[in-house]
Amino acid sequence: MSKGTRDHVWGALPVGPAGAEHPLDLSGFDPTVREQITSRLVSPGFDAWSQTAAQVGYCARPIRLRGYSTTVDAQTGEVLSTFATVDEPLGVLHVRGGNRRAAECPSCSRVYAADTFHLIRSGVTGGKGVPEHVSDNPLVFATLTAPSFGLVHGTRNGRKCRPFTPKGQPGACEHGRPTVCHATHGEGDELLGQPLCGDCYDYLGHIVWQWWAPELWRRFTIDLRRALARTLGVSESRLKDRATVQYAKVAEYQQRGLIHFHALIRLDGPKTHDGFAPAPDGLTAALLARVVEQAVAGVSFDAPPLYDEDPVRRLRFGAQVDTKPIQTRSRVDDPNRELAPEQVAGYLAKYATKSATDSVSEGNLHLRRLRAVLAETADRIHAEARADGIPLREHPYALLGKWRHMLGFRGHFSSKSRRYSVTLGRLSGALG
Ligand SMILES: [Zn+2]
Ligand SMILES: [Zn+2]
Ligand SMILES: [Zn+2]
Repeated sequence: MSKGTRDHVWGALPVGPAGAEHPLDLSGFDPTVREQITSRLVSPGFDAWSQTAAQVGYCARPIRLRGYSTTVDAQTGEVLSTFATVDEPLGVLHVRGGNRRAAECPSCSRVYAADTFHLIRSGVTGGKGVPEHVSDNPLVFATLTAPSFGLVHGTRNGRKCRPFTPKGQPGACEHGRPTVCHATHGEGDELLGQPLCGDCYDYLGHIVWQWWAPELWRRFTIDLRRALARTLGVSESRLKDRATVQYAKVAEYQQRGLIHFHALIRLDGPKTHDGFAPAPDGLTAALLARVVEQAVAGVSFDAPPLYDEDPVRRLRFGAQVDTKPIQTRSRVDDPNRELAPEQVAGYLAKYATKSATDSVSEGNLHLRRLRAVLAETADRIHAEARADGIPLREHPYALLGKWRHMLGFRGHFSSKSRRYSVTLGRLSGALG
């Protein structure tokens, strides 16, 4: 084991151009890291260390556990086995940290993405304990966006950014900044997602929407069931006898720092113990897509004010609702098919490992300002609650400051309904 692991570690290290005489090229690392690498390589505990690193799949942030366990036969009382972490190569048990984010741990994030991929795919095509006939049920890929909080630069699929002024408005805002942009922004352009005028941009509106995005999603799932009941001509309470809605969704940050939801929405038949029953006749993916669009357009929530003199805001999803029927195994006749199940599962798995800060540099002015407004707002809420003698925990935005690093999004990055497919836990068992 130790030789194999050692070869693996050596093989992974960068080798310089000079060959065997200067086999290690550590010029890409700073002096501290260079020192750490070389002292690790010549340390007497290198074998134990490399074995442990291999055991946790080269996790960047493993968790260290100490303790012991004994397995006893319940009938005879005989000790079947014992396990003590002091017997581990480094005297302590290391397990994977399991961080979803690629920037935190490349290894765990790959495992997470693969698990998410299988979890999402099995809900589309069957497999991993999900019956194959699930692929006969109508399936829609929907993207629910945030509304606009001000003009921002965008790629516009290779066309000019904003060649025209908004209808009925002059070519410059009240701060004297242009409301048009004739540039064509490529991927990686630093202007992408930046407001044309940061002083016009509605930062508070942005923060309030992001804070309540999970509530908007919750309301969407309720409205979708309602819209479906209407389409099927049944009451909401009887809907479960005809059809159930299952979904898997992920949240992804856009460049302007707002999340949007990507969801796979599937229509199953009547509620059963196992789920996955065939959908009612005549309900196609195209029809489901229209029902989804209706439901999204109808969702609203009146968000409470942030502090005294702040208005109530009526929140909605953005007007752009993208819904695509998904081609599944036996549904090749669908004229609207655009995406294959593998593609969609791949997208969702990738989105699920991204986070607010991964795709944007610290130099991003817009996100710096967003964080600053978030922090100021959180401070103001705290100060006001103290002055009014109101317990802060009763305030709807009490934890706003805590979610600053997430740009105010407190929801799950990936979630699914109960009967969408299997759970991650069951999946690991099936794959392991
Ligand atoms: Zn890890
Ligand atoms: Zn632009
Ligand atoms: Zn302005």
